[in-house]
Amino acid sequence: MTTTAPESLDADGLLTDNAQLIAGDWVPAKTGEAIDVLNPATQEVLLRVPRSSAADIDAAVRAADDAYGSWRDTSPATRGELLYRWAELCRQHEQDIDTLESMEVGRPHWGPSPIPKILTFTAGLADKITGQTLPSAQPDVLGMTIREPYGVCGSIIPWNAPGPLMVNDVAPALAAGNTIVVKPAEDAPLTCLLLAKLATRAGIPPGVLNVVTGYGGEAGAALPAHPTVRRMSFTGSPETGSKVMEACAKNLIPLHVELGGKSPQIVLRDADLDRAVPTIARAITVNTGQVCAAGSRVIVEEGMRGKLVDALSEAFGKVTVGPWYEKVQMGPLISAKQEQRVLGYLDIGRAEGAEVVVGGNKLSGEKYDRGFFVAPTIFDGVKPEMRIAQEEIFGPVLSVLGYSDEDEAVAIANGTKYGLNACVWTKDVNRAVRLARHVQAGQVSINTFGSAGVIGAPFGGYKHSGFGRTMSAESINEYTQVKSVIINGAD
Ligand code: NAD
Repeated sequence: MTTTAPESLDADGLLTDNAQLIAGDWVPAKTGEAIDVLNPATQEVLLRVPRSSAADIDAAVRAADDAYGSWRDTSPATRGELLYRWAELCRQHEQDIDTLESMEVGRPHWGPSPIPKILTFTAGLADKITGQTLPSAQPDVLGMTIREPYGVCGSIIPWNAPGPLMVNDVAPALAAGNTIVVKPAEDAPLTCLLLAKLATRAGIPPGVLNVVTGYGGEAGAALPAHPTVRRMSFTGSPETGSKVMEACAKNLIPLHVELGGKSPQIVLRDADLDRAVPTIARAITVNTGQVCAAGSRVIVEEGMRGKLVDALSEAFGKVTVGPWYEKVQMGPLISAKQEQRVLGYLDIGRAEGAEVVVGGNKLSGEKYDRGFFVAPTIFDGVKPEMRIAQEEIFGPVLSVLGYSDEDEAVAIANGTKYGLNACVWTKDVNRAVRLARHVQAGQVSINTFGSAGVIGAPFGGYKHSGFGRTMSAESINEYTQVKSVIINGAD
């Protein structure tokens, strides 16, 4: 590890070089090949992880299959208890988890980790999975449904928030009695390995949770194609999601997908700008805009557009940018590839005729030169058909679009292929309710952005943002299948 690593991670044996978790053992890839994981702020190598292939995925799936019967038959209360213990260990190591995730993603501290809360919430659901009793035309015949696990599940996750995204899949899968193989992203796999280590220390039995690292086209592609995998979850880009769906279709297994977004923030004339502006700025600069739910479009009533853009420019100008370990609000983009993507969209926006009001450039200078830093950027004068209004940039770039009446605001908000998050800023409750109903998104917030502390708010997409819901009681049902049981009690 480099000097930037938290010493406790080494001292406590929480991370091992070039090792992944299969059947309770920490092992390299069968080929021995490894991938360097870089600190995006400095390009230093943090640690190596195995470069796995289909053979390693096969070993992990077999381990998960071997562990399945006994995990399925473990009392739901005990499964919940183990998840609580895992949550508790994550709470004890919250600082380590936060620092490691910051190091590999490049994100400054963003508040208390959601991981213990997700685990605690889901642990409490483990012994509340129920079916129904059914009416019967025959008095002596009893009908019921029971919810059963699928068996071995697969989970593929991206790099932008690896810890929360991993537990969003693993916790409900395990609570419902499934076993699982997780394939983290090659750019940021370390937090998942640390969480897996804590899971084993919590007593989650060998094989129940396996984490296999590697590239998408090698390890990733092998997971949904494996004949023993019974259900998949995928979080990532729509392009890869479509490939994973194809593999699931060939394998005839269900999946849920959490994909990209182009989330609108609709600002009505009566909005409280003092409240709205800091939230709008944070919704696109947190994690350097590399958030599926990032509020990347502001749709504002024309009459107040100038005032809002001025206030947002001032807020963006104050966003401090630097390496994660300095007390800053925004870090670098994760990789050179991601930087090229964002800079490319800055060129596209200019070429389309949008006006850069603030930012619009790569940052240079001593503290920026080793990382992938771009300035938080606002484009004004954006038209709904422009690419910067339609496509997911996945960077700190906000597009401002004007509207003249509510119908137009809704049409613009709904006028992309995505439908993940949305928010509406207004003091008028009637308009708030109307817009919440008419905007096509899996989550709509009024006078805030995101779930704002609501526990168990289902999260997931409409349209090309995906299907299926995480972070909620709904997610448990996603990891179960329904069986009808009919008992003829007649003599
Ligand atoms: P990505 O699709 O490139 O990669 C995601 C994962 O898929 C990685 O683990 C990768 O290794 C794997 N992968 C790549 N090719 C594969 C293949 N052929 N078969 C199987 N797996 C493969 O996405 P990314 O660049 O890591 O993440 C950014 C995207 O994720 C954005 O579009 C963002 O909106 C989305 N995202 C969505 C959510 C959500 O909850 N909706 C959350 C976070 C990120």
